[in-house]
Amino acid sequence: MVARAARAADLADLDGAVSDCFACPRLVAWREEVARVKRAAFRDQDYWGRPVPGLGPQDARIAILGLAPAAHGGNRTGRIFTGDRSGDVLFAALHRAGLANQPTSVAADDGLTLRDTRIFAAVRCAPPDNKPTPAERDTCAPWLHREVELIRPTLRVVVALGAFAWAAWWPVLRQVYGQRPPTPRPVFGHGAHWSGESVPALLGCYHVSQQTTFTGRLTPAMLDDVFTRAKHLAGVD
Ligand code: SF4
Repeated sequence: MVARAARAADLADLDGAVSDCFACPRLVAWREEVARVKRAAFRDQDYWGRPVPGLGPQDARIAILGLAPAAHGGNRTGRIFTGDRSGDVLFAALHRAGLANQPTSVAADDGLTLRDTRIFAAVRCAPPDNKPTPAERDTCAPWLHREVELIRPTLRVVVALGAFAWAAWWPVLRQVYGQRPPTPRPVFGHGAHWSGESVPALLGCYHVSQQTTFTGRLTPAMLDDVFTRAKHLAGVD
């Protein structure tokens, strides 16, 4: 799997290869079980039930790094953050920021396109309880590293959605940029900002999960602030 990720020639090649990954037995079993049993509201739909690739153009200047696909969101529709409440919040904010052509993301063929932005997750398969193990995170890391490598020429800012994504970024510095991560590691927080020499800036943002958005811990205005800062740092109009 590591070799396959490393030789992906472009994002289309990488997206196809990651979709065919079976490296984590627990996650493979879970994604397929969810796709077989389904949620009642989606019982007439065919679930994707496979790893979910990234979304967005190869010349992205901003990357949004999430945790993992949702069982009945990306694992159902086959597109990251598509078909669940987290995506509703995220894509509405991206549309307000001018980074998405529409405010909704409900199905893989709904016409959504992103501008200057690529979205991907640290772990590409839906995990039980949204909690991948450290071993699963490490097994999946080569896909993330190759994806960042492929957009490296233009990438200027990474928005980490939550502490898991924030922590997943540091190995990228070593693997993709050949730089030693800072010690001690900067602490995750909403609005946290870390920048280094010749590497993308890192912005922290609470995850767009229902736990944060329904409780008001993360508001649309807070998301707007993050994407305004990301666009400024990335030089996106
Ligand atoms: S989580 Fe990543 S490494 Fe594990 S099976 Fe899914 S795509 Fe492969």
